Amino acid sequence: MDIQKIREDFPILSRQVYGKPLVYLDNGATTQKPRCVVDAMVDEYYSVNANVHRGVHFLSQQATELHEASRETVRRFIHARSTDEIIFTRGTTESINLLAFCFGEAFLREGDEVILSVMEHHSNLVPWQLLAARRGIGLRVIPMDDRGELLQEEYHRLFTPRTRLVCLAHVSNVLGTVNPVREMIAFAHGQGVPVLVDGAQSVPHLPVDVQALDADFYVFSGHKVYGPTGVGVLYGKEEWLDRLPPYQGGGEMIQSVTFEKTTFNELPFKFEAGTPDYVGTTALARALDYVSAIGMEQIAAYEQQLTAYATERLQAIPGLRILGEASRKGSVISFLVGDIHPFDMGTLLDRLGIAVRTGHHCAQPLMQRLGIEGTVRASFALYNTCAEVDVLAEGIERVRKMF
Ligand code: PLP
Repeated sequence: MDIQKIREDFPILSRQVYGKPLVYLDNGATTQKPRCVVDAMVDEYYSVNANVHRGVHFLSQQATELHEASRETVRRFIHARSTDEIIFTRGTTESINLLAFCFGEAFLREGDEVILSVMEHHSNLVPWQLLAARRGIGLRVIPMDDRGELLQEEYHRLFTPRTRLVCLAHVSNVLGTVNPVREMIAFAHGQGVPVLVDGAQSVPHLPVDVQALDADFYVFSGHKVYGPTGVGVLYGKEEWLDRLPPYQGGGEMIQSVTFEKTTFNELPFKFEAGTPDYVGTTALARALDYVSAIGMEQIAAYEQQLTAYATERLQAIPGLRILGEASRKGSVISFLVGDIHPFDMGTLLDRLGIAVRTGHHCAQPLMQRLGIEGTVRASFALYNTCAEVDVLAEGIERVRKMF
């Protein structure tokens, strides 16, 4: 991989903040966009724009073709069986809320249980809590060890005859743990229970094959994989999606409507009420084409090298403690230095041009498990370099010495 050449595709990476070159290490929150993604949006607005699926006219048909071709690009990217299994949403959060509502309506009754892990992002916890409050279901939590690995025997013990669903992050946004989702799915299936995988932090960094994983539902956000904001994906096996009721009502999701009765559209449109973000889906497809052209295996290998280098550099800093030491980790490093508050560390690093995340990272129950308020998080993407890791390490040293 020619990283310098790749960096040229991302105009924002050459800007300065506070007179310093930007070192952008907040990729877990959102990634920067290559020129081809922004160009795709501009091109579509300037030369194709029309509402999809509705018009007989030329532009509408062209916009529809682009939108549906994007669905095929997503299908190929995660290796789904059919485009009927690809639902466009606003992002991971909306995908999970959709599922919590629809799966809850169809399959959850008072006293039923949902299993989730201690390291879930609030997006994969709060929708289930809302559902729990509405329908009287129980939530059971998979614990982890101090290295940040989920305890598999405890997981197995959580299953009861009332377990209806397992919800699980593929990669933790705080600890970087890559959970053994394939094995955990196989176990759940052995108990007759489907699994939702939150792929927000995996799709940008690892090759994902939903059929090889045998995931029943898999969700991710476009903006974390170099695509635009406001577009995401819910993958669901057709056999499940077919059995779920619609989410929102409106145009597009219907087949016929009278005042007495409405029949619903087929998959995937049943779940896509209203005008979709068709420009966003085109741009998401460009982003997936972009990373596919580099190769997800290559990206994963490069980020692994970079994270290993960063781990080594950071570990050498006196008083620095890394949170999350699982045997398989993604490109995320959460850390604390002595008793320096993460917010102070983040603010001072920012003044050096280094963008990191600080706080609870939308995972407050995980912070409670770790007995801390928050961490500083550096999260890497395909355009980050060892030189940037050096700037980070030197920056942390500088802040440490100030305290
Ligand atoms: N799940 C995980 C693991 C995340 O890291 C995030 C975002 O940080 C989300 C869900 C929510 O994603 P979004 O805000 O794009 O819906």
